[in-house]
Amino acid sequence: MSDTAAAWHDGGVHKYVIMGVQGSGKGTQSKLLAERYDLVHLSVGDIFRWNVQSHTKMGARVRRAIDSGNMVSDDVVEAVVQQRLMEHNWNYGFIIDGFPRNGDQAEFFLESFDIDAVINLELETEEVERRVLSRRLCEGCGLDYNLMAHRPEAEDVCDVCGGRLVQRADDNPEALARRLDDYYAKTQPVLDIFSRKELILNIDASPRVDEVFEDICRSLPPVGN
Ligand code: ZN
Repeated sequence: MSDTAAAWHDGGVHKYVIMGVQGSGKGTQSKLLAERYDLVHLSVGDIFRWNVQSHTKMGARVRRAIDSGNMVSDDVVEAVVQQRLMEHNWNYGFIIDGFPRNGDQAEFFLESFDIDAVINLELETEEVERRVLSRRLCEGCGLDYNLMAHRPEAEDVCDVCGGRLVQRADDNPEALARRLDDYYAKTQPVLDIFSRKELILNIDASPRVDEVFEDICRSLPPVGN
């Protein structure tokens, strides 16, 4: 986010931030919003995966962090986002998912970009647990299952490849509780900063995907061009 990027950003395009705990459907809602409003979905997680798979220098930094058992550090995240936004085509707006991650990044982001809204998907911890702990992953083809929403035909067997369905190692109550504590501790300062600018739309993420989506669309502020 250089000053030049900040200078030519503002042409009536929509710029949204989306936040939400694991299991809140953040990725799904981002994709739906990107389709409806012709936005680019900037997912920090997807950018990381692309860099790792493409063996870029950034990918090597991400890999090193993950291999040493650490979270990818805030400055790596910031560098990734900056690099991506430098390449952004400002004929299109964006919805960014996975950034900002701390108060400093949120301040900087607000100074550099004219954010239209921050969509905050809220989900009670009980429901997060219900959703996350019912996730299964096919060992064979990697397809995701959810034992509530997307049940396989036969128990523990992948419909597509016949592979065995397993739970991710870190999808257990203890690890999830740690991730949630970490999420709320990190996110609160970000939400506080966005709240000062009255940008936050708190959305109940517990209904069905299409209902949550319509709720978001109704809540978004009108954007004048
Ligand atoms: Zn499979």
